[in-house]
Amino acid sequence: MASTAQDRPAPTWEEVEALRRQLVALQRVSSLGVLAGGICHELNNALTPILNYAKLGLRNPDPAYRQRAFEKILEGAQRASTITGGVLGLARPRADRREPTDLIRLAHEVTLLVGKDLSRHRVRLEFQVEGQPYARVNPAQIQQVLLNLLINARQAMPNGGTVRLRVGPDATGRMAELSVADTGVGIAPADLRHIFEPFFTTKTGPDDLGQGGTGLGLSVCREIVESHKGRLRAESRTGQGTTFTLRLPMCAAPAKQGVA
Ligand code: ADP
Repeated sequence: MASTAQDRPAPTWEEVEALRRQLVALQRVSSLGVLAGGICHELNNALTPILNYAKLGLRNPDPAYRQRAFEKILEGAQRASTITGGVLGLARPRADRREPTDLIRLAHEVTLLVGKDLSRHRVRLEFQVEGQPYARVNPAQIQQVLLNLLINARQAMPNGGTVRLRVGPDATGRMAELSVADTGVGIAPADLRHIFEPFFTTKTGPDDLGQGGTGLGLSVCREIVESHKGRLRAESRTGQGTTFTLRLPMCAAPAKQGVA
């Protein structure tokens, strides 16, 4: 006789944990998939001055000119390296290692990954920073949260708009605060109560990738944030926009290591 779901033993804690990890990983890959075209474009933008200044430097023997060309090449290569570093960090994060992390730098790397996708959809990004907040986090996971919030914000502005990413201390000065505020369609109060529930989605699709929403993004985000002893909240006004606020316990910046 065929077995039914009721006959099967309840999954063990280890099995549930393995599925949870898979879900977080899938969600991350899905965010990268949405951004793939934009990331290639950004990378190309970084490579163009490298190629051009290398050609110009080869043609022009003037040492001052060559010095300037080298500086431009270095600038472009550093930008390209930050972009590929960000993609690799997200695609293959190290084991759940938490380290004191400069949140402004972390957010800046996310803006490099998402910038082209936003501008292609006529969304202007305002990046505001205050102070120098550090938190003990798994950087790839917190970047995954920010990416998700920024992609959701862009999807809420089908006719373009503005998204403001702010990083700084919160009002108490004890927590770091990262917020993503959009000028999009907003969330109806009846939906706002459910947005962090797994599989809740209002996206019927198809989106850029030919899919609708999965309703898993925000539930994964909240889980990541709470596993860092942080909080993720949403406020929204229908027709005016939505703000997601992520708070994390701050930590001291790591002491600078001297070189002997
Ligand atoms: P998905 O994006 O796959 O639908 P999420 O869990 O990321 O799944 O989001 C759940 C729902 O929350 C979305 O379907 C949408 O209704 C709502 N939502 C999330 N972010 C925003 C936003 N910035 N503006 C408006 N609605 C949003």
